[in-house]
Amino acid sequence: MASPATNITTQFEQQLVKSTTLVFHVNLFIYAAIALVALFRIPHLVALFGTPSEWYNGHFLRYSPVKQPKVSRSNTSNSARTLVGEDTHHDRKRRGGEKDVSEVEVKYPPHTAVVPRQLRTMLSLSRVRILDGYSIGQISILAMYFYALVYATFFKSNPFTDATRPGWVAISQFPLIFALAQKNNILGSLLGYGYERLNYVHRFAAKLVILAANLHAVYYLYRWTAAGTFTELVVRPKNAWGMVALIFMNIMYFFSTSFWRNKAYNVFLWTHSISMIVILPTTYLHQPSLLPYVLACVFLYGADRVMRLFKTRIATAIVIPLPGTDITHIEVPSLNAGWRPGQHVRLRILSRRMGWLGWTEVHPFTIASAPDSHDCLIVMCKQSGDWTKRLGLMSKERGYVDSESKVKVWVEGPYGGPGRMMFASFSAAVLICGGSGITFGLTMMQDLLAKDLKGESRVKYVELVWVTQDANSITPLIQLFTTLIQQSVYCPLRISVYYTKPLTSKLTFLPDPDAAAHLPITLHHNFTLTPGRPRIGRALDAAIMRAVSLGAGHKDSQGITGLAVGVCGPTGLADDVVRAVSAVDSARKDQVGGIEIHEETFGW
Ligand SMILES: Cc1cc2nc3c(=O)[nH]c(=O)nc-3n(C[C@H](O)[C@H](O)[C@H](O)COP(=O)(O)OP(=O)(O)OC[C@H]3O[C@@H](n4cnc5c(N)ncnc54)[C@H](O)[C@@H]3O)c2cc1C
Repeated sequence: MASPATNITTQFEQQLVKSTTLVFHVNLFIYAAIALVALFRIPHLVALFGTPSEWYNGHFLRYSPVKQPKVSRSNTSNSARTLVGEDTHHDRKRRGGEKDVSEVEVKYPPHTAVVPRQLRTMLSLSRVRILDGYSIGQISILAMYFYALVYATFFKSNPFTDATRPGWVAISQFPLIFALAQKNNILGSLLGYGYERLNYVHRFAAKLVILAANLHAVYYLYRWTAAGTFTELVVRPKNAWGMVALIFMNIMYFFSTSFWRNKAYNVFLWTHSISMIVILPTTYLHQPSLLPYVLACVFLYGADRVMRLFKTRIATAIVIPLPGTDITHIEVPSLNAGWRPGQHVRLRILSRRMGWLGWTEVHPFTIASAPDSHDCLIVMCKQSGDWTKRLGLMSKERGYVDSESKVKVWVEGPYGGPGRMMFASFSAAVLICGGSGITFGLTMMQDLLAKDLKGESRVKYVELVWVTQDANSITPLIQLFTTLIQQSVYCPLRISVYYTKPLTSKLTFLPDPDAAAHLPITLHHNFTLTPGRPRIGRALDAAIMRAVSLGAGHKDSQGITGLAVGVCGPTGLADDVVRAVSAVDSARKDQVGGIEIHEETFGW
């Protein structure tokens, strides 16, 4: 006859088997759902790789000699078609362009809508914000995940009588959480999203896991305390390691809250890294049968670190302050290619002037220049906290003398960006930027215009809307904006800048500073400066009108392929843009071939 102790062990083993099988099946369900979305996104991947430059851009930074666009002035080649039609030619003349009508070999990027026409209303609905910046689409994903874990925890089990189940649920989600946390994100690559876009799932999943781990532990702590065996049992190695893992999970949770992320990012970062290093081995020591999960996490973490090394370039950068602004301009002459517009790099300044520990900090910045252009890699850093202020100070101390403003930098990337959404494949683009989000607008705008000259863009019209607090902050960009408008020969560009703070000083860039009395100010043809909030609806209307009307020469024969909207800035601005897009009449959306949005916010 079996002893009571043997019976308990057998029962425990049976439960263990049940729990492992169940969490395995729940994981299968979760990964199958991810695979389904990845499958659905394959046409977008095919479309992306239909453009040759997309094969080698977006992965590694490099230097590439700049090739001039292949412009043929003769009419002999059959494959060369006129990029500029008669209408556009007249249009160009009207705008006072000086170039000859050129012929380039057109290689328009293939366009694949994010969803079929029938699902546009659903897509629009999924973008509506309901909770603290979260959209219905995001909440639905989190709700499904939540349900899957609730099912795994409670199916034929009660966490108050079976503590192993929540433990298994917790560990089973470790690999997913690790996969979502890496900068070189396997899931992101499969789905076509940057790591920062999936970060909300990482945060939510991690919270549920920590909750499950606590449920698992509380059961034992309660039982041991009630039986008076707490001090005896808690020191047993298996239990002690479990306690250490739990304590570090809770530390991780506490220091990951938005308070710490916003107020002391480094505290969040260090506690996260140290806790992770402690949690993995202690989890294994607590329960050696969890080794496969621990190894999966170690593999994901290790692979990411190796990829980061491959993506890192140590280079010399020129760091200068942008006069009249709180922005530091950094350019890296030895890098000019390898990124896609909208992507960011992680930057480390290797100089003692940033403080003794300054070199340990890595900060993300969107690349403000277009790839494969005469410009090199440029980032613009607005002073917001300690590190960016120190950077600003350093750039000012070093002055404008070229040799003194040079500094060694560690540039890692590129990461993120619009994924599989190709702005150049749409009929029109509206870029809406708030504050330092202008970096996103600059790179997108320059890339679209450069592609247009090479015959690689279907875009017939680009509108940039920039909302900034201080009107004078446009001073360093006026020259660039004006040049871009002049260069936008075949694809009209309109720039509308809105400033939200009342003028306290004269506008130094105006020939007659008192002209500010007459608002809005037209700084150049198609370039205005207006006080107040942006009129996003109006910008969308103008872009739709240009996308559906004729006059873009050869592009007209390609059909109407939608309006791309890119927004980069505070969450409130992104919310406004989503609302404005939702407010567009559905017949008008259909007429333009749908409106797709890419959102970029400087945080998570
Ligand atoms: C994807 C992305 C792209 C960005 N692009 C630009 C850009 O082009 N131009 C620009 O001026 N700013 C950009 N930012 C914001 C910039 O990274 C922060 O302003 C900068 O890191 C602040 O550091 P700090 O120590 O000076 O300020 P802090 O006071 O420490 O932080 C200010 C804010 O920045 C966040 N932050 C701080 N350190 C980091 C970090 N290492 N990683 C992520 N977030 C951090 C904090 O959560 C806080 O909300 C971007 C941020 C992200 C996430």
